[in-house]
Amino acid sequence: MSDAPPPVVSRNPADPSDILVHVPAPGARAATRAVERARAAQPHWLLDGAAARSAALGAIAAAVEAAADELTALAVREVGKPVTEARAEVARTAAIWRYYAQAPYEPTGVVHETAAGPGLLLTRRRPHGVAGLITPWNFPFAIPSWKAAPALATGNTVVLKPAPEATACAQRLAEIVQQAVPTGVFTVLPGGATEGNAVVSAADAVSFTGSTVVGQAVTLTTTARGIPAQAEMGGLNAAIVLPDADIDTAAAHIASAIAGYAGQKCTATSRVIAVGAALGPLREALAERLRALAVGDPADSATVCGPLISERARDRVIEARRGLPAVATAAPTGSDGWYAAPALVTDLPPGHPLLHEEVFGPLAALLPADDLAQAVRITNSVPYGLVTSVHTATLDATLHGLDHLDTGMVRVNAPSSGVDFHLPFGGTKASSSGPREQGHAALDFYTSQRTYTLTPALPSILA
Ligand code: NAD
Repeated sequence: MSDAPPPVVSRNPADPSDILVHVPAPGARAATRAVERARAAQPHWLLDGAAARSAALGAIAAAVEAAADELTALAVREVGKPVTEARAEVARTAAIWRYYAQAPYEPTGVVHETAAGPGLLLTRRRPHGVAGLITPWNFPFAIPSWKAAPALATGNTVVLKPAPEATACAQRLAEIVQQAVPTGVFTVLPGGATEGNAVVSAADAVSFTGSTVVGQAVTLTTTARGIPAQAEMGGLNAAIVLPDADIDTAAAHIASAIAGYAGQKCTATSRVIAVGAALGPLREALAERLRALAVGDPADSATVCGPLISERARDRVIEARRGLPAVATAAPTGSDGWYAAPALVTDLPPGHPLLHEEVFGPLAALLPADDLAQAVRITNSVPYGLVTSVHTATLDATLHGLDHLDTGMVRVNAPSSGVDFHLPFGGTKASSSGPREQGHAALDFYTSQRTYTLTPALPSILA
């Protein structure tokens, strides 16, 4: 029996006979060599200076924009992202590169007075070396970019190990980035767990996004190696709806957060908590919204809910809702794609797996709460803590939520899904570990702080 890792395969989830990538896995040694090449390139990349790094990132932003139609079509085909969302992701990807193109000019430290005597005390942030990036398939351009752009801006080089399901998108992104940076500065290494683990075992800093089980294993390795790491993992996000909310608007936000991109976002809503009298009207409004939602071909601009990423993912969604009362839309028929109908399940028995496990599909549970305090307790009762949406018209309820919810992000009168890339992104508990991603937080993550003490050689001259 061969120990070779399985081949890297990527298929169109809307038409699984359409194979985008089928190549042998490069293996662990190729991953280690990629990191070594990136390490050799790193000092030169840093010495090229702020202007060169800024210009490169700006050029990448422009190239992503110029290729927007083609990149959008590729994301639709490879990961089944509905075309409207795919287009928005590509636009966001360009914006991310442009945002970080300014970062090389940011100050890297501060100056302090000495406690006593002449001299200067300085701090300065320096890159780690090689950033090993391990990414999922669900944001095939944006997630690699929101990791790679700050890593490159601060003078690191990058080895990206994308999810096998998003290999073609990552390779296309690599072509664009490599046009703008010197050889060895940005490498995409296709593969799965073997290659991912090899990158984690060799890089100087690791940024991971994916499932909690893999993220925790990655974090064990990086902790043992004593290198900086961040892991963004699963979610089981709640939407809390108070009776004073605009129920129709809340239902529109929540339906999109349940079923948009077939619920395959870490920020998707999977629990809807209706407080008191909100329950009846919300159930009706959500049922109407979900039934009206377009499920089908991701290339159709009306589609909100496309296919699941794999047959296994589709079967997991179907299994998770088996036997549960639900408000559901019909999955498209006559297609071989991996579709599952969006569903809002009701009357869950206590302890049901949907109340504590992430399914990663277009599925949510409707739960009643007597009051806001109970809704917050239900929200906080799960092992995850990524994001909560709160729907209310009152400031008091908003403030109570902000004070007592234990998720890393709270979004008021907005869907749980959707992020602003210039602010810190991340959660608590099993959703995240390590420093935050995005915004200025990312510039901190990809650098470590140095403290310099400068003392004159001849203090008597200054006296
Ligand atoms: P996954 O954990 O299966 O894979 C993620 C990445 O890890 C892939 O590149 C995979 O090849 C790699 N990998 C697998 N085993 C590895 C190992 N032993 N060592 C190193 N790397 C390894 O996740 P997925 O199915 O690609 O993505 C879905 C998950 O990602 C969901 O749980 C979702 O919640 C999560 N996610 C989280 C965020 C966030 O920011 N919190 C964002 C998007 C997705």
